[in-house]
Amino acid sequence: MKERAAQAACRACGRHGLVPVLDLGETPLADRLPTTEQLSQTEPRFPLQVAFCPECSLMQILETVPPEQVFDAEYPYYSSFSPYLLDHSRKNALELIGARELGPQSLVVELASNDGYLLKNYVEEGIPVLGIDPVPGPATAAVAIGVPTLQEFFTRELAERLAGEGKQADVIHANNVLAHVADTNGFVAGIATLLKQDGVAVIEFPYVRDLIDHCEFDTIYHEHLCYFSATSVDHLLRRHGLYLNDVRRLPIHGGSLRLYVEKREQVGSAVRAMLASERELGLDRPDYYLDFSARVVRLKQELLTLLRGLKARGKRLAAYGAAAKGATLINYVGIGRDLVEFVVDRNVHKQGRHMPGQHLPIRAPEELLTSKPDAVLMLSWNFADEILQQQAAYREQGGQFIIPVPKPRLV
Ligand SMILES: [Zn+2]
Repeated sequence: MKERAAQAACRACGRHGLVPVLDLGETPLADRLPTTEQLSQTEPRFPLQVAFCPECSLMQILETVPPEQVFDAEYPYYSSFSPYLLDHSRKNALELIGARELGPQSLVVELASNDGYLLKNYVEEGIPVLGIDPVPGPATAAVAIGVPTLQEFFTRELAERLAGEGKQADVIHANNVLAHVADTNGFVAGIATLLKQDGVAVIEFPYVRDLIDHCEFDTIYHEHLCYFSATSVDHLLRRHGLYLNDVRRLPIHGGSLRLYVEKREQVGSAVRAMLASERELGLDRPDYYLDFSARVVRLKQELLTLLRGLKARGKRLAAYGAAAKGATLINYVGIGRDLVEFVVDRNVHKQGRHMPGQHLPIRAPEELLTSKPDAVLMLSWNFADEILQQQAAYREQGGQFIIPVPKPRLV
């Protein structure tokens, strides 16, 4: 991996020569959930290796799987299956409607608008919207609830086309998509093109500081190419004439940042404080990232010891959450059907399919009450509070949950 990192060019600044951080081995695509018929076919596997750019401080993976292979017709993510995410999105929209005085003359665009979970809040308030999302299932679902959606990848070219048609946005939302695009600079250039002179781009992604500090290695997968700090994203935005003027830390997805990005430079105190604390902690230097690898190996051993110990005492195990992070965790740790019998997930589009690589079957959450496993490995630990509440009946029957990060523990 060392050689590969040394030869690689940074996704953001183009510098050649990255510092290797973590090697998670060769894993299948985390969002590709095989059907029963597909189980006999070979799943493509790709190296999952993480490196750091000493020039612009961006942590990134080395492999780029072609986006057409990742976000195809079978991409199973529907935002509206999480009540917590819906609430988070609604608050975000209502706040912006007030703060930016949005009305019938405004335009709000969301990049990777999924099933319209966010934009529908603007539609309800009479504000024109445009969703952009290449995945057919969620995009069709968005149109069905009254959210106009272009079924395309967002690129610099698409932004130019829209701007040419006179469409420029007062607000651009980009939640959990900037880190997923292969052409990082093209995507940001597209935002700059599509944004009105006095518009704001509101961008969310998981914060690399939370990932490292809480050992959230399972949020690393092929779909997720970049792992941003305020420092690294600030470098990237400035190259495109955009300024990080305000920032908030959010608890969602294990710890995220929400950026407020504008065309005029007016950097607020929250941004200055965050950049200063990142410098102080060393997020702009390789050392901060290097002991992460040792902690990930330790977590793997502790989790395996815990699961095997339960199994040895005759306990039956299941798992909760067929999300991408779950795929990284079970494949890297090596959790197969000998340890965990099945995975449950509320998303009906995932039920009946299987986890990538380890092929654990995915079932409905009601299975926990009928099949009564003794303990459930929480793969979707980012929604742990919500899931523990939903599973009160299972827990009253004596069922336990295992939270794997930052350190495996039973609750
Ligand atoms: Zn760089």
